[in-house]
Amino acid sequence: MANSFTQISFGTNKALPQTLVDATPVSVESLTPEKVVDFRLQLSSQLQTTLEIEQLITILYRQLKKIMPVSGIEYMCEKPHAKAIAGRLHKHRCCYQLSMDKMNFGEIIFTRNKRFSEKELATIESMMDLVIFPIRNALKHLEALACAMIDPLTGLYNRTAMSISLTREIERARRHEDQSISILAVDIDHFKSINDRYGHLTGDNVLRQVAQIVQSSIRGCDASFRWGGEEFLICLSNSNASLAHMVAERIREAIADSTLLPDKERQVTASFGIANYSNESDWPALVDRADKALYSAKAQGRNRTVTSLSPQVNSQFA
Ligand code: GH3
Ligand code: MG
Ligand code: MG
Repeated sequence: MANSFTQISFGTNKALPQTLVDATPVSVESLTPEKVVDFRLQLSSQLQTTLEIEQLITILYRQLKKIMPVSGIEYMCEKPHAKAIAGRLHKHRCCYQLSMDKMNFGEIIFTRNKRFSEKELATIESMMDLVIFPIRNALKHLEALACAMIDPLTGLYNRTAMSISLTREIERARRHEDQSISILAVDIDHFKSINDRYGHLTGDNVLRQVAQIVQSSIRGCDASFRWGGEEFLICLSNSNASLAHMVAERIREAIADSTLLPDKERQVTASFGIANYSNESDWPALVDRADKALYSAKAQGRNRTVTSLSPQVNSQFA
């Protein structure tokens, strides 16, 4: 297998501030061949204990410090996106591009505030064959985790991702009064009859196109999810009632104005239910209000948006 760990640079990075060197009473010069073998065995077995990039870089840093003074290690990869730093970054750096079978596995940088000697550079380089496989596995793991969050039909986030994301958003809204959120529940109208009339493949195609309209109508800070069969959920960050209503109406009109069926005369429409955050303790309570508003939009004739009254307002009328 064609691994490569090209040293792409080493020397001084002028952008990094100079700080105190770590006092480590070890020297690579005093390493005997037996100690090197022992070190490689230890490093290799430690690196096999995790699939997390951050932990791998921390292990590498701790092990390397046993044989040479090094103040920090930085790792980054563009695709899948991964970044980790162990220790502190310093002025002198030695950088390797990790690749195997023409695939790129990111870049790893060793730093300290004293130049690395030739022997130290050779030692670091000799460790790269132990590092590249665990990093490749960790990146594959990261990709698999990302896939587990995506709905394969529409490419939107799935319910697993929705639960993780909404838990975080509710927590943020609770802590910051000025960062409220809105939930939009979307359901395609009479979707069963679309399947019945045009077949499931056309139905799937409509789902994909509606998902695309939803995704292209929201900001980068918002998120959209496939909630169920022909149901979607949108979470708007830093939102309020009027923004949520405007976004819902924009998407509703875009769906109604698009040609999504082979029969170009026939319109596809969707109904919308909105709930704006109102001190709910958890996301299911907020989603439940959006769902009830959606149910009301269906009952009022479909192809419309209904906003849920906040629980406080509701209790005044009860
Ligand atoms: P309403 O206006 O009240 O929402 O009516 P509806 O027909 O849209 O709702 P209903 O719940 O009766 O039907 C939803 C249909 O969605 C039934 C199900 O077969 C279909 N469906 C669910 N998932 C998929 C899918 O992945 N692909 C396709 N083609 N159809 C799906
Ligand atoms: Mg439905
Ligand atoms: Mg429906």
